[in-house]
Order: sequence, then C-alpha cells, then structure tokens
Amino acid sequence: SRVISRNSYVHTQVIDVPKPKITNPGDAIIKVTSSAICGSDLHLYLNVIPGMEKNAVMGHEFMGIVESVGSDVKNIKPGDRVVSSFEMGCGQCFYCKRQIYSGCDCTNFSEVETKLYGHHTAGFHGYGTLTGGHPGGQAQFAHVLFADVNLLKVPSHLSDSKVLLLSDILPTAWHANELGGVGKGDRVAIWGAGPVGILAAHCAFFRGAERVVIIDEVADRLRFAKEKVPKVETLNFKEKKVPEALKEMMGPYAPDVSIEAVGIHYCKSWVHKFEMATMLETDPSETLNEIIFCTRKGGRIGVVGAYAGFTNHYNIGAFMEKGLTMAAGQTPVQKYWKDLLRWIEEGKLTPDMVITHELPLSKGPEAYKTFNDKTGGCVKVVLKP
Ligand code: NAD
Ligand code: ZN
Repeated sequence: SRVISRNSYVHTQVIDVPKPKITNPGDAIIKVTSSAICGSDLHLYLNVIPGMEKNAVMGHEFMGIVESVGSDVKNIKPGDRVVSSFEMGCGQCFYCKRQIYSGCDCTNFSEVETKLYGHHTAGFHGYGTLTGGHPGGQAQFAHVLFADVNLLKVPSHLSDSKVLLLSDILPTAWHANELGGVGKGDRVAIWGAGPVGILAAHCAFFRGAERVVIIDEVADRLRFAKEKVPKVETLNFKEKKVPEALKEMMGPYAPDVSIEAVGIHYCKSWVHKFEMATMLETDPSETLNEIIFCTRKGGRIGVVGAYAGFTNHYNIGAFMEKGLTMAAGQTPVQKYWKDLLRWIEEGKLTPDMVITHELPLSKGPEAYKTFNDKTGGCVKVVLKP
C-alpha cells in the first residue's frame, strides 16, 4: 500500500508498506478513495505534539470502498462505500455506552497519555503509537477496528467531497457548538478561520446563532470565510486588538459563546518532551486566555483546538470571577454523524465548501507544505490515492 508517512520536522514522504490485513473479527479493510489533511496532522508535522515515530502512516480523515471484513462484522460488507471516523470506539465499553467514543477504553493503551492525563484517549488513526499505533488513512488501503461502530455507509448520489468531512471536521465543528451550547440568538466568536473554524461558523448559523465573528491573521482565509458563510463577520488580529475590536463589533454583552479552533501548534516554545513544570516564554494558553478575557460574564467556551500536556498561566481568576463555563474535547464523531449526513442530504449543511485543493496521494509532501504555509488560498486539501 502506498502511504504518506512522517519523516522529520516539516517532512512527510511517500513510501510503500505492506497492505494491511484483517487481524480481529470486527475489522474491515478499506480501499481509500479520498483522504484529507487536517490541522491536527500539522501538530505532528511541526512536532509540537511530539513523539510520533518516523515512518508511521499519517492521516485520519478518509473514506473509500470496503474491501474485506472480519467474521463478526454485521452491518458492513465488501463493496459498501463508507466514511471512517478519525477515532475508533469499541461500542461496548463504559465510555462508548455513554457515547464518549473518543474516550473508548479498548482501542488505545497509551502509557504516555495515562501518565499525563490519568486516562488515555481512544485509538486515533495516523498518530503512531501516541494513540494506539493505528496506521493512518493517507494511504491506498486502511485498517479499521470495530467496523460496525466506526464506519458510516454513505449514499452513492453524494460525492466524496460532500461526505468525506464527516470523518472528523464537520462533527468537530458541530461538537464545538455543542460544547459552547450555541443556540438561537447567540452572538458567537470563533478563533481560527481554518477548515474547523469556518465549518463551526456554518454550523452556528444552522443552529440559529444571530451573529458570528471569525478571527484569524490570514487575510485570504478571512475573505474565504466571508465568501462561503455569507453572514459571517471577520476580524484580523494582525490589524486590530481582539478584545477592543470584538466589543466594538458586538457590543458589551457579547460574545455569548466563544469557540477555540486554533490549538497548540502556534506555541513557539513547546518543550519537546512530555514533562511537568514548563514555565514557557510564549505560552500555548495565550489564545485561551484571550478567549477567557473576551467572553461576556456567564458566557460559554467550546474548545476543539487540540492541546497536549501542560499549559501554564491560565487566567483562572477571570474564568472564575466572570462565571464562565468551558468545555473541551476530542470529538465523538459517531454520536453526530448520522444527523449530520441527513442534513447534508437535505442540503442544509455543505461541508465541501472548505475544500480548496485536491492532489494525488503521490503529491502528499507538497500538499502538506501548501496546507501548512496556507499559500495559494489553501484551506483544506484532499489527497486521492
Ligand atoms: P488550521 O491549522 O488549518 O487552522 C487554524 C487557524 O488558526 C489558522 O488559519 C491560523 O492562522 C489561525 N490562528 C492561529 N493563531 C490564532 C489566534 N491566536 N487567534 C485566531 N486564529 C489563530 O487547522 P484546522 O484544521 O482548522 O483545525 C483547527 C484545530 O482543531 C487544530 O488544533 C486541530 O488539531 C483541531 N481539531 C480538533 C479536533 C477534535 O476532535 N477536537 C478535530 C479536528 C481538528
Ligand atoms: Zn482531523
């Protein structure tokens, strides 16, 4: 199977690895037809979430045609066209029963995570041994555990680009809105005009938000957001100070909800080791502090931007005194994807709006560079094996 694997800091490569095989009765092997690159892949690419081994296969947003299934698989059969979830749940454990699929106890046993967090996450595709050692889906063939839980059949009349992002970022954009409790009449501010932030704005309006301001420093992305999500307002933090500008735009009693769709990879000083007690020059919680500072009293914050390990210097005082609520998390994709698919079919959600680039899998390294540099108007890249 031809795959994209991690090489070293800002280097990916195209290599050939043995084709994956069914190893458990619940598995499926997928012949991949589309596989996207995610902001989460950039954390690995930039080594700000360190520890992914060299040559591990990357990618967690993929779909394709089922090639084979294990003897226990009931709802999926060879030939089905399916989207795969980025994280894998067993469907049976304490967490999966509560729909916390991203916390499944049975698909990842990372000691690093357990040491850092007290518990480990579910197994994710394409993060190497950091999250269970599951090879990724930026590949010709991919291996999926518990196929009945982690694959969603999609109708043939919807193109790959229409449904591919059900694998992660559409559910993640939805999850951000759920975590922040976005509802009718809310004024929402979103940090990050990447694919996740833009789809979070799209979902916020669908849920009845009155106003949405999206914040970034990449003018092209802000322009793009405005073009694709008509009612969205934009704020460039290179041009204006965010707290003052937001007040000016939304008034003193907003935002009701803030969404963090940036994550850790802008921290320049992450210590490349999982260690406690890191008093850093530039703290990765800067974005979070700005969000805590800007959100109105009694407001709500949804964090889907990815962090790993410790970040210090939280303005916990502002958080407490203002009576804020903050919720965060890796997305339990399977909790949302059936509803989201129905809304795509009904034309109410159009996640394909963020896809700007499509390249053959063999151009993977170039695709990573373009997505990371955000050049050529790049918002979301899809690789075609
Ligand atoms: P991306 O890197 O394409 O977009 C991030 C955007 O944030 C960029 O456009 C960047 O210019 C902007 N930005 C940087 N610093 C900022 C700041 N201080 N204020 C406002 N904007 C700033 O990534 P993406 O694919 O859109 O993903 C966004 C985040 O969501 C990543 O951290 C990713 O890991 C995370 N993610 C989480 C989940 C989950 O399950 N929780 C799933 C998918 C992605
Ligand atoms: Zn992703």
